[in-house]
Amino acid sequence: MKLVKTVAELREEIAAAKTAGKTIGLVPTMGALHEGHASLIKAANMENDFVVVSVFVNPTQFGPNEDLEAYPRTLDADCKLAEAMGADIVFAPSAKEMYPSEDMTWVEVTGNVTKVLCGRSRPIHFRGVTTVVSKLFNLAQPDRAYFGQKDAQQVEVLKRMVKDLFFNLQLRVMPIVREADGLAKSSRNTYLSGSEHQAALVLSRSLKKAQERFAAGERNAAALTEAVREEIAAEPMSNIDYVEIYRLPELQPVNGPLTGSSLLAVAVKFGTTRLIDNVILEEK
Ligand code: AMP
Repeated sequence: MKLVKTVAELREEIAAAKTAGKTIGLVPTMGALHEGHASLIKAANMENDFVVVSVFVNPTQFGPNEDLEAYPRTLDADCKLAEAMGADIVFAPSAKEMYPSEDMTWVEVTGNVTKVLCGRSRPIHFRGVTTVVSKLFNLAQPDRAYFGQKDAQQVEVLKRMVKDLFFNLQLRVMPIVREADGLAKSSRNTYLSGSEHQAALVLSRSLKKAQERFAAGERNAAALTEAVREEIAAEPMSNIDYVEIYRLPELQPVNGPLTGSSLLAVAVKFGTTRLIDNVILEEK
């Protein structure tokens, strides 16, 4: 496995892989890799001949009062994990390499899909994500790109971008990997104290109950969200940003009983750490 830090070197590696007729899988990450990321890299390795894992804490997707500086950076460990999962390249550019000038081109998806849920409390977040992911797509020219259902809204936004900009690739979405206790794996979990971690278990617990109620026939979105909200609010360390349901794809508002496929998503702060989690509600 090779650690690559420049755009020029990545282009060379990709050109060589393409010339050799290899299919390319791309796994974009912000590093501090854990088993959630590992599942993406593993899938990319199974489905492609050449796997690029990007490790880049993308400044443009962080708001002014967010955790850009504090975000964990563990490149050595990330390279080891990526290699063990079958990556061929870890691409870890500097911010200057990805954004050489202050004047720049943005890629922005408009509409409900970027406005609701995290879009409300993090207004510039998805513009940063779509801009950096576009750059990575253009550089790595992947046949397939791998993302986690953990970031369900990001997946919907990126699907829209791929469609609108005619990116010639397949988006592969992998299930949420959880700790044994149910907490969705996240690089930000390292911020949690022991008691905050325990408190945060309410997220997966309440979402699972909602999924069970849906499976048992509950189709009233407000009844489901209220039950989740109440259970989370009863946890004294929690501070709810949102508990909401939207229709899939593209996060349209729910009118009337739930039909087809919907996303029940939560964002909740425990101390200073904001966690997200979700379940998909759909008839089997
Ligand atoms: P991040 O490094 O947090 O930007 O995440 C990089 C990719 O890994 C994104 O597509 C995430 O959705 C995915 N990911 C993060 N955590 C998990 C998890 N617990 N399960 C599955 N995928 C995940």
